[in-house]
Amino acid sequence: MERETKQNTPAVSRRRFLGASSLIVSTGGAGLALGSPAARGDLDKLAVLGGKPIKSDAFPGWPVEDSTDENAVAEVVRSGKWYRGTGTKVLKFEQLFSQLMDAKHCLATSSGTAALLTSLNVMGIGPGDEVIVPPYTFVACVNVILACHALPVFVDTDRETFQLDASKLEGVITEHTAAIMAVQLGGSTFDVDAVQAVARKHRLPLLEDSCQSHLAEWRGHRTGSFGTAGCFSFQASKNLNSGEGGAILTSDEEFRERCYTFHNNGRGRVQRGEDFTYAAQGLNLRLTEFQAGLLASQMTRLEAQSDRRRANAKYLTSLLREIPGITPAKMYAGCTRNAYHLYMLRYDPAQFTGLPRKTFLKALKAEGIPASAGYAPLNKDQFLKRTFATRGFQTIYGKERLARWEQNNNCPANDRLCSEAVWFTQNMLLGPRSDMDQIADAIRKIQHHAGELAKS
Ligand SMILES: *Cc1c(COP(=O)(O)O)cnc(C)c1O
Repeated sequence: MERETKQNTPAVSRRRFLGASSLIVSTGGAGLALGSPAARGDLDKLAVLGGKPIKSDAFPGWPVEDSTDENAVAEVVRSGKWYRGTGTKVLKFEQLFSQLMDAKHCLATSSGTAALLTSLNVMGIGPGDEVIVPPYTFVACVNVILACHALPVFVDTDRETFQLDASKLEGVITEHTAAIMAVQLGGSTFDVDAVQAVARKHRLPLLEDSCQSHLAEWRGHRTGSFGTAGCFSFQASKNLNSGEGGAILTSDEEFRERCYTFHNNGRGRVQRGEDFTYAAQGLNLRLTEFQAGLLASQMTRLEAQSDRRRANAKYLTSLLREIPGITPAKMYAGCTRNAYHLYMLRYDPAQFTGLPRKTFLKALKAEGIPASAGYAPLNKDQFLKRTFATRGFQTIYGKERLARWEQNNNCPANDRLCSEAVWFTQNMLLGPRSDMDQIADAIRKIQHHAGELAKS
């Protein structure tokens, strides 16, 4: 990494160096000696106001690919065996992935959404049921509950960790609760011990959404195996990807076989060709052989990429912790490995002369550091109201129960978190350590000039 840093360092101009030195003095020297002075660009003027950006080159792209991936796909193309019924790649990937994740059984699916939907169906979730879900997550979690015609019941978020607040879990359980869906958000993990304890006490199946947490660990065990089922996504943005794709992990072989049947339009594993009888209701949610071939090839890089992300994230946290108004997401003590699908932090405008988050993000982008504000409050989204207004939901639940749902649908900590979150994507952690210095330098630069920017 050191070598890459030096290679990326152009000649240092004296003016820029002096600019950097004066900033060290004016900010009390909070770590500004880090990073290469040249990489810091023009510190006298914000890029958003016409100055030189801190980072002029791009962060590493995503996906990462080479001829190995090309050959993996080409091999399937040439074989003419393009679906799991005729090929061997999907089955092979299921073996590889369950081994990698320390899980007993795996079923590959067409997406993470498909994995969640299949699991909920096999758990028997249906009309009248409530499924507990965090509001700080991707909309797919809620969509699959609604697709089962069940009610999503939101449990508030722990602002410190960005994960569901396990201490509030029992408070949302009712006689209708049929499952708990818990999400390992951003690659970190929720408090597995606490969530498992509640699930066991109330005899509720736990569905783990590990779509963002490939290789993350709780007390040394990989995520995806703490509940009845654990679901993964291999969609293009995810840490392991084949464009689209997903998987279910479970320690229960019968559960896996029932998932197989569901994801295969209700047809069992041994059923072939003209046997048009059906074991159960289902859908076609199968992964293709092309995707499985690509996943096996992509998987060979996963550990090394994951290590790189972790090392960079750790260093970035050490830098950002020193900046007033920037609070990196904390991890629970049991989270022994974070997959860093996202690097998440909270932004406090009060420490940036009142600069709104939106303006901060715009300034950061201009400095060459793309960042997003992350999720909006999912439990308040208007699409839920429109869904509940449909004939089906009105028939199943009635006005009174839906009004009660709305009355209880409050997640104040989550509302607050949604207004203060800032995310960096996983690919930004794949480059040299100097990239982390540049992220921190850009934030310090904005903080230093926040007053001017607020007035402009
Ligand atoms: C990506 C994601 C999903 C959905 O996965 P797809 O493969 O896009 O269908 C579900 N839950 C979470 C938390 C995700 O990040």
